[in-house]
Amino acid sequence: MLRNLLIDKDLFENIQKKILEAEDWNDNAKLETNILERNVLKLLRKKRSLKKYKKIGVNRNDLKELIELAEITNLELFQGPSNSELASLHPEWCNHCGICCSESSPIFIHKDELNLLIMFNPRLDTEIIANEYYPEHFRFKEDKPCKFHNDETKRCKIYDSRPQVCRHYPLMMIGNEDRARNIINLRYNCNYATRLILEKSIILFDEAVKRLDKKK
Ligand code: SF4
Ligand code: SF4
Repeated sequence: MLRNLLIDKDLFENIQKKILEAEDWNDNAKLETNILERNVLKLLRKKRSLKKYKKIGVNRNDLKELIELAEITNLELFQGPSNSELASLHPEWCNHCGICCSESSPIFIHKDELNLLIMFNPRLDTEIIANEYYPEHFRFKEDKPCKFHNDETKRCKIYDSRPQVCRHYPLMMIGNEDRARNIINLRYNCNYATRLILEKSIILFDEAVKRLDKKK
């Protein structure tokens, strides 16, 4: 009910379907997303308790639907902040667990940043190779874990000259130059991703309740 106040049901289902097709959704991604949604729901129920909103008809399913909307849309659609704006306001969401540096592969390096990376850190010259998935671009030779991840301190050994993809994670660009899209990597074990989806869900919830009040 709440989500329908923000986006047409058919439009939402269409966007969701296209995203699932484009991202080659596999069982593992589905499982990770389900866990993340459950975690966000638990946190959202603490921020916006069902008890308080029950009298205006809000139920658990409304919260779940808003979380799904937060996952696939940019809040700019609702005159809200973009994913990057929200993320840049909350660096504390990253708890420096190091999971992204240990488990990501390949670590993407855009062709336009190659020279700059090597200029700032000449030792990277021998650490970067062609990217087999995106032939014009590059990647680190050693990943999963990334060679530059310090397992003890959980910090990056080349923090000041790390690639763009590391600076923006869990926000990611997918697709190719013609059809590139920004997404949030929905990994349940990334605190940053969990908090970002939670924050977006809260904003969507408040906007939907405002619209519901206006309708009454
Ligand atoms: S370069 Fe640094 S931030 Fe990027 S994956 Fe490697 S360790 Fe992590
Ligand atoms: S971005 Fe996420 S996975 Fe990576 S270190 Fe931060 S909290 Fe951990």
